[in-house]
Amino acid sequence: MNLGQVVVMSEVRRDPISGHRVILAPDRRNRPAAYDRQEQLAENAKCPFCAGHEELTSPPLCWYPPSPPEMYLRNWRVRVIANKFPALSTDTANATAPGTGAKDHEGIHEVFVESRRHVDSFGELSADEAAWTWLAYRERLLSIRQQEQWPYAQIFKNSRQGSGASIAHSHSQLLASRFVPSALSTELAAAAEHRHHHNTCLYCAMIEAELLSEARVVIEDQDLVAFCPAASRFPYEVWLFPLSHLPRFEASATSLLERASHILQQLIRSFDRELRCPPYNYFLHTAPFHSTQQDCFHWHLEIFPRLVTTGGYEWATNSFVNTVPPETAAKQLRQQWQPTGTNQ
Ligand SMILES: [Zn+2]
Ligand SMILES: [Zn+2]
Ligand SMILES: [Zn+2]
Repeated sequence: MNLGQVVVMSEVRRDPISGHRVILAPDRRNRPAAYDRQEQLAENAKCPFCAGHEELTSPPLCWYPPSPPEMYLRNWRVRVIANKFPALSTDTANATAPGTGAKDHEGIHEVFVESRRHVDSFGELSADEAAWTWLAYRERLLSIRQQEQWPYAQIFKNSRQGSGASIAHSHSQLLASRFVPSALSTELAAAAEHRHHHNTCLYCAMIEAELLSEARVVIEDQDLVAFCPAASRFPYEVWLFPLSHLPRFEASATSLLERASHILQQLIRSFDRELRCPPYNYFLHTAPFHSTQQDCFHWHLEIFPRLVTTGGYEWATNSFVNTVPPETAAKQLRQQWQPTGTNQ
């Protein structure tokens, strides 16, 4: 055993008691510190994500709208690049630490730059930029799925000061790992258990019940529904689901993703009106790539504004104290909903 070793590059350790994993990533100390919003919004002269500064980042993995490479610099509206300070990477110089499982330190960490313009929220993107961002999520998930060695890729977004973002310019991230994170395996196990006992999808059953009661539904259309979950952990937590049973995000039709990105923009603008432009996080949950149980899953997005700091009780118990009942939150968000409104 070499428990006293110094971690130089990324390493993954799994806690044998709770099963949670920790990515030790000392290189990420060198990334920009958490930003000051006013300073960064005023000062886009140095922003690596703005149009005109492409040389500050690595060459793009893909960009939207699609165009020939010689047109890229002029035409891109959304682009995907490798993260300059990856939490996990395929650099294999670092030997695996004992007891952590082979190659757990390997991974892929990418960044979705969502606009040429220096804006700090998904709600401030044009409708095209928002839709292209979601199409880029699908394209990168399909590409990583094909590589076969990655069981899961997590797409997530930190937006605004206090969300974990270190750059103001609106962006989201993808982190592909050698392991399925415990949050996903827990959800998948519950879905498989439900399927075993009821022969139906746990998520479809939840959607049906929410649509029937209506109390927590924020918006519903012919393809999608957004509601505040009955056991919301955080004030104004919202889950967004396709109404059809779709295990894998990357199998979604273009029209569905365009519609979902549009609803998400409207939802974030409702947060902005009700809660004065709060920081927020969102993330996708989709079936792990090669799981035999993936048909039990139903992809969804989870989003919550960062209004409260997680306290000792939450850390101690993984149980939550939420001061805004989801029925109240849904009602307030419905009142703020402006179907055709934009910030443009
Ligand atoms: Zn910028
Ligand atoms: Zn389902
Ligand atoms: Zn989930």
